[in-house]
Amino acid sequence: MLPQNTIIWFNGEYKYLKDSSVSLLTHGLHYGTSVFEGIRAYSTENGTAIFCLEEHIERLLYSAESLYINLEFSREEIMEACREVLRKNNLESAYIRPLIFFGDENMGLNPLNCTPQIAIIAWEWGKYLGDEVQVKISSIKRISEHTSTVDAKIGGHYINSIYATLEAKQLGFDEALLLDHDNNIAEGPGENIFFIKSNTLYTPKLGKILKGITREKIISVAKELDYQVVERNISPHEIDAFDSAFFTGTAAEITPISQISGIKYDTSKVKDIEKKFFEIVEGREKKFDKWLSYLY
Ligand code: PMP
Repeated sequence: MLPQNTIIWFNGEYKYLKDSSVSLLTHGLHYGTSVFEGIRAYSTENGTAIFCLEEHIERLLYSAESLYINLEFSREEIMEACREVLRKNNLESAYIRPLIFFGDENMGLNPLNCTPQIAIIAWEWGKYLGDEVQVKISSIKRISEHTSTVDAKIGGHYINSIYATLEAKQLGFDEALLLDHDNNIAEGPGENIFFIKSNTLYTPKLGKILKGITREKIISVAKELDYQVVERNISPHEIDAFDSAFFTGTAAEITPISQISGIKYDTSKVKDIEKKFFEIVEGREKKFDKWLSYLY
């Protein structure tokens, strides 16, 4: 639970969390008609910097558009509200959660008469997963591109991730890995996945997965570190041929995978990528400073 004096941005106003509430008839609450982002800000020697703010807000607006949500706020206003929420709460490093959802005017399934609501909340959030994770291939498939807009971050999609997480946790694993409907590796419940074999990284190609912003950045970083990067279908039958594996995501950052359903991996091989990632997000790698949005 966040402190009640946490300041949030809600429909264009800065408010205390304790003074912010929504109706029980909120459409998004009943049917998952919401879209959201997860963004991280890091402490750097030049103050707090938000990693890939523009890309995240771009994806937020793409997700909103996929649900026909018309917002009265511009991309710039939303980006500035992300920065201002951090300033107002004196947060040096944080997880930022922009959330857009349909309001309470209509309980029918058509949400278009419901007024879109937008909130931005931020809090300090340490490591999302452990230093390394044991992963279970889920019996539940990743939602298909024939079922929904799989590259949009829609609230209702996350019941798929939550089922997979519950199954993995019940069986004593740390995290799940979902296959797509063609039985290829898709992604974790909230992470993209990479495999390493010698000097090549392999990752599922786009189309059936969330287009992770960390995924995209790691592809650039890996090339800088002289890895080849291959985006293709990956069958679960071939994953014992890889040396190492890791998850990427805003919350998960870079999380080495120690095993997938009994197949063991060498987590030490992920270290150079992990090290470079933190140099970049903490502003110690000037070449990638363009990915950071400073508060002041
Ligand atoms: N896949 C899913 C299903 C996710 O929820 C996330 C987290 N946003 C990711 C992948 C990783 O995306 P990103 O690197 O943009 O956080």
